[in-house]
Amino acid sequence: MESVPYSVQLGREGAGKDHDWGKWKVEITFAKDRTPGGPNSFVVEVYENGIALGAAGDMRAYLCRDIEEKDLGCQKVFSALYVDFKTIAVCPHCKRTWNPNRLTTTVVYRLSTDKAAIAIAKIMRRVEFDADIFIKYHPSDIRYQEMVRELGLDKAATLQGLLVYKKSDLINAISTGKGLEEELKGLLSA
Ligand SMILES: [Zn+2]
Repeated sequence: MESVPYSVQLGREGAGKDHDWGKWKVEITFAKDRTPGGPNSFVVEVYENGIALGAAGDMRAYLCRDIEEKDLGCQKVFSALYVDFKTIAVCPHCKRTWNPNRLTTTVVYRLSTDKAAIAIAKIMRRVEFDADIFIKYHPSDIRYQEMVRELGLDKAATLQGLLVYKKSDLINAISTGKGLEEELKGLLSA
């Protein structure tokens, strides 16, 4: 199995303050029975990095599309700052207006690892690579179990076996000529 050049396992707090974190966080949560090649079930959510906003935590970000995916906008990611929950949301990219109740941040997938890499690559391009990827695992997953061995049950439960792949590592990897989808495939099958 290919090794993944992730360097932070403990989330942003473990990495120190001087890190160059992305504006966005793409969080992938795998369901149980994950296999390297899939098909696997997982949920993707996008957040805005709270550090950049001076906020205590990360803020949910929104996708320019309808919650049931019947009505597709430009599908780019935008900040909660553009959403007025009492009236409307305006996509800052395409200026389209939405009923905030029809917006979502969460997309559920069941895909082979090849297709999952393509789906995540699409999201990374939409946020112009300005995102860190956080991956969480089911307690029965080998990665979660590794974390239990290294850090103990409590910490592993808090972190959900978290693997963090920083945007700078991804950009470094693809700048050496490795394809984006190929790099993500390595990450998602690890
Ligand atoms: Zn839009």
